[in-house]
Amino acid sequence: MKIGCHLSSSGGYLAMGQTAVSIGANVFQFFTRNPRGGAAKAIDPQDVAAFMAYAREHSIGPILAHAPYTLNAAAAERRIRDFAEEVFTDDLRRLELTPGALYNFHPGSHVGQGAEKGIELISDLLLKVFDEAKPEATTVLLETMAGKGSEVGRSFGELRAIIDRTGLPLGVCLDTCHVWDGGYDIVNDLDGVVAEFDRVIGLDRLKAIHINDSMNANAAHKDRHQKIGQGKIGLDAFARIVNHPALRDLPFYLETPCDLQGYKEEIALLKGLVK
Ligand code: FE
Ligand code: FE
Ligand code: ZN
Repeated sequence: MKIGCHLSSSGGYLAMGQTAVSIGANVFQFFTRNPRGGAAKAIDPQDVAAFMAYAREHSIGPILAHAPYTLNAAAAERRIRDFAEEVFTDDLRRLELTPGALYNFHPGSHVGQGAEKGIELISDLLLKVFDEAKPEATTVLLETMAGKGSEVGRSFGELRAIIDRTGLPLGVCLDTCHVWDGGYDIVNDLDGVVAEFDRVIGLDRLKAIHINDSMNANAAHKDRHQKIGQGKIGLDAFARIVNHPALRDLPFYLETPCDLQGYKEEIALLKGLVK
């Protein structure tokens, strides 16, 4: 099983790899920079080289880089879209140093312009960014969103529209809390949701799972993560999720409200559910 959690990137790549191993993880997620935006720390080539060797030795990966939350490709203001383009391009260039990584971003919030306009803006920005950064060793993932506020990506169809409009080799990261909050009933009809994903997007695009319980009811459109088994999704559903034939070989990344010890326990808990 490929399982890990979100880690602080402040100590660099090797430190994240070592932390992952210390809590029983073989994958991890991290922010490319302060989640609220801002400049990224310079990458230390020695740290990257040491990490790559360590990752090979300990079979770590794929690592998942998460774009800052402030990146909004669908913003109405030009200045905010320019910032998104700059950050996105810079992140993709840096990620070429760690080949095989995934880069996940929240498609954006259309801030009242409508989902269709949002999809158009996001697609335009993706095309520009791919043209500028030419990512070869990184797979860019659209995250499924809960649909709070004016979030784009609240349905599989909205993600499909971005994929179609760009024609880019984009993947998808499915967040269990978000799809549940977004109205997909992964508790009572996991097979149906997986089949719907396959029909609308195609399972070949599914590259990662954010494994989170939810504080809220199905279709609440809230996005409040809860610890595994302590929310409205519940442990039985997670047992089905980690064993589902279409999901079980994907990397799972926890983003629950846990400290390292809590993550270590959740990783053990989820591993224990695998048949
Ligand atoms: Fe996210
Ligand atoms: Fe997520
Ligand atoms: Zn979330």
